[in-house]
Amino acid sequence: MNMDEVDLAGVGVGPFNLSIAALADEVPELRARLFERRERFAWHPGLMFEGSRMQTSFLKDLVTAVSPTNPHSFLNYLVSHGRFYSFLATEHAAIGRREFADYLGWVASRLESLSFADEVREVRSTRDGFELIHDRGRTRARCVVLGTGRVPSVPACARQHLGPRCFHAIDTLTRPLDLRGSKVAVVGGGQTGAELVLELLRGTWGEPARVTWASRRLNFEPLDESPFANHLFTPEFMAMFHGLEGARRESLLERHKLAGDGISLSTLRALHDRAYELGVSGSELRLDLLPARELIDVEARGSGGFELHLHNLLDETNEPVQADWVILCTGLREQLPGCVEPLLAELEFDAQRRPLVDRNFELRRPRRGNERLYIVNGGRSTHGIAESQLSLMAWRSAVILNDVLGRRRFDIERERGLIRWQAAPSWAARGEAC
Ligand SMILES: Cc1cc2nc3c(=O)[nH]c(=O)nc-3n(C[C@H](O)[C@H](O)[C@H](O)COP(=O)(O)OP(=O)(O)OC[C@H]3O[C@@H](n4cnc5c(N)ncnc54)[C@H](O)[C@@H]3O)c2cc1C
Repeated sequence: MNMDEVDLAGVGVGPFNLSIAALADEVPELRARLFERRERFAWHPGLMFEGSRMQTSFLKDLVTAVSPTNPHSFLNYLVSHGRFYSFLATEHAAIGRREFADYLGWVASRLESLSFADEVREVRSTRDGFELIHDRGRTRARCVVLGTGRVPSVPACARQHLGPRCFHAIDTLTRPLDLRGSKVAVVGGGQTGAELVLELLRGTWGEPARVTWASRRLNFEPLDESPFANHLFTPEFMAMFHGLEGARRESLLERHKLAGDGISLSTLRALHDRAYELGVSGSELRLDLLPARELIDVEARGSGGFELHLHNLLDETNEPVQADWVILCTGLREQLPGCVEPLLAELEFDAQRRPLVDRNFELRRPRRGNERLYIVNGGRSTHGIAESQLSLMAWRSAVILNDVLGRRRFDIERERGLIRWQAAPSWAARGEAC
């Protein structure tokens, strides 16, 4: 087995670690290697519905926010593919997810630091860093960044029923589905739930007899994309959020839910139009829209179907729903990857057993020296709603790379936001090292 030695090793190559690799490409003295278990780059392929659109600007790409001249920008992708003027002519507020995924794949194909079909099986502490055991060998690294993404969140009452007809939406498009004439229940009222219902109404898998869409939210609610809501996705806000005590952070996460996790207005409009057209055309397809319903139980029926028990949060009644198929659009949750099991005893956790993440995205643990263990997309409770979004991806990558290098290679303190969140300037605004 070969043994490599690098300064920075990455576990997982989704957009977040890809951004680190793209910026690290500007720093030749930094030896970086990032491992991905997939054969090639892919961005949530199981949810890549035709026509689905981004919820963030294309300028929030892998690099532009901190290094607009970096060759791995979305604009360079457009120019290199001869689509710059056509792209401008589309005048879309949000670009298609397929195009963004293609951009990400294009960058991945240009970076030599990435190793595909190379799952990391174990990360162990050594005297001066870490050792990674992965499918193609062993690698020693002073710093490691975990970028393995989030995992499907499944309501406890549905877990025992998971199978071919009751599944989490994350891999919908990789399943052979024939839903003609079936009763389909979709649980979850976020963007994924909305996109899935729209696909069902378009007959993507054949025309179902009945579609039930249940959401715990009080209505099918839009993403808050108003100008001041966008300031929640800034380094200043994240720094302020990180400095708050735990209970305040929890309450802000709840209050800011729709800024990060609502349904795009264009999807809501398309869905509403389709639902209305069904009524006008006298279609046989029955659509039941059930907001303010919490899934409290699932029972398997002898016929191979299910009975869902929903609790109505408005009038406190319970109602049963029959379904042949149950598709859970119940979100993703943070989880440390299994490969860091040998390090768990070193990490600090909060009362809910979530790892504590410092403002430089380092997992809190007693340091032995210059080694660092970072995580991206693993600190929603410490860093706020922007942590799981693309908005601050490039900035966060620069924070981590500056920290690894021990110097300000990337200027991350240039921007001054319109809103002053704190009486005293934040650590970012003061220009302190993070
Ligand atoms: C359908 C969908 C659309 C979204 N659209 C937007 C949007 O428009 N705007 C926005 O801001 N955010 C969006 N998000 C949220 C967020 O940007 C994405 O979830 C993003 O993919 C997160 O990137 P990531 O790198 O953390 O994780 P992932 O994309 O999940 O990548 C993690 C990678 O790690 C690999 N991996 C896991 N374990 C190992 C291991 N042990 N060894 C090696 N590799 C491993 C996995 O194979 C995977 O490729 C969207 C999310 C979803 C689900």
